[in-house]
Amino acid sequence: LVSRKKQSADTVITVKDLSIGGASSVMVAGPCSVESREQLRTVAAALKESGVKLMRGGAFKPRSSPYDFQGLGIEGLQLMKEVADEFGLATISEIVDPAHIEIAGQYIDFIQIGARNMQNFELLKAAGESRTPIVLKRGLAATLEEFILAAEYIVSRGNNQVILIERGIRTYEKWTRNTLDISAVPILKQETHLPVLVDVTHSTGRKDILVPCAKAALAAGADGIMVEVHPNPPTALSDADQQLDIPQFQKFMTDVLGSGLFK
Ligand code: PEP
Ligand code: MN
Repeated sequence: LVSRKKQSADTVITVKDLSIGGASSVMVAGPCSVESREQLRTVAAALKESGVKLMRGGAFKPRSSPYDFQGLGIEGLQLMKEVADEFGLATISEIVDPAHIEIAGQYIDFIQIGARNMQNFELLKAAGESRTPIVLKRGLAATLEEFILAAEYIVSRGNNQVILIERGIRTYEKWTRNTLDISAVPILKQETHLPVLVDVTHSTGRKDILVPCAKAALAAGADGIMVEVHPNPPTALSDADQQLDIPQFQKFMTDVLGSGLFK
């Protein structure tokens, strides 16, 4: 169902005053984790000022260590809604439990399924029963075929609002957190009719190469970019090393928008 052979026209997903997969590019920005109302309001104000309409923020965090911050849970989703309503933004947040798919729709505009859960088939099926658009990230070591089949799980259950995110894959390379597979972008655009975004933060795990990676993604045909921003990254409860602070984010936006590649 997600194949170009089934549908030649691009899928365009419209939420509030935002379209993804259409003529214009989209920027998704926000903190790795929702930590507090104040933290989220500071980020939301910066997004609004930079013209970003879609805010990300994790409430359920799939952390490598069980001793690390696990997220604020439902309270985090409630904060996303409260702050997004105040600033007129749409929201994306990750859900990790099929039991939370339904309630999540009350608080957020897009449900993210993260890399670690790309092949959590019960979660994919639950996402397919939902009518909330789904943002599906490529698994840490998933082939493109596996990625596309994961999207097919969702669409085959009746939810055709799916966005794919390339977020880097595991390789032997150590100078980036993951290896951004730029070739995934034209292949996914060619093989499927779904919108494709590139998460420059989790793919690289560093802050100094985000602009060239975002430009490369857009030049390769990506429909948008995801990036993490935090008011005070050194104190962040997750991904402290890779989040941009607000001035860095503003510079990133200026450079990406100024490149002429962001439509
Ligand atoms: C995230 O976007 O918050 C995240 C955990 O990313 P990924 O699933 O790509 O690792
Ligand atoms: Mn993160």
